[in-house]
Amino acid sequence: MNRALFLDRDGVINHEVGYLHAAEDVRWVPGIFELCRVAVRAGYKLVVVTNQAGIARGLYTEAQFETLMEWMRGEFVVRGVALDAVYFSPYHPVHGLGEYKREHEDRKPGPGMLLRAAKDLELDLGLSVMVGDRCSDVGAANAAGLRTMFLLSGTEVEGCAGEYVAVESLGEVESWLAADSATEREVR
Ligand SMILES: [Mg+2]
Repeated sequence: MNRALFLDRDGVINHEVGYLHAAEDVRWVPGIFELCRVAVRAGYKLVVVTNQAGIARGLYTEAQFETLMEWMRGEFVVRGVALDAVYFSPYHPVHGLGEYKREHEDRKPGPGMLLRAAKDLELDLGLSVMVGDRCSDVGAANAAGLRTMFLLSGTEVEGCAGEYVAVESLGEVESWLAADSATEREVR
């Protein structure tokens, strides 16, 4: 069985700009590549799980999303890490147009994307962790039974219901992973 570092995209990989869909608007969140390198060394798969209500709202298409993610995957590879998988939810229960207007378990806080990843990549979710910036990320992580959910501060000012570890930076997650894998090596 494998384990994963699940990453929300907007607000974790790139700064939130609101319905991002163009490479020129991407600003990397400090520490994202370092975190991913440490995670890969510690044996984690890198899995992006992102709500894309902008597709539901008709602001950009699935094809535009895929193009941006292909570019993003390339940027990761250039920096020495590869994303193992990208899952997205294009639905919105209220503001979606046409077929996109619906409830769906893939839309966080639903755990659908995490459960699909677990099947596709043979993940042990109880050994997997996630980094997000919204309460919907906490909800999805908790519903999927992940080991630890890290909530990056700044987006949710009130805090969230559920189980999570609040962090101020991605560097704190990196330190946690490094310390955890050092402990594992000692135990072995
Ligand atoms: Mg986010």
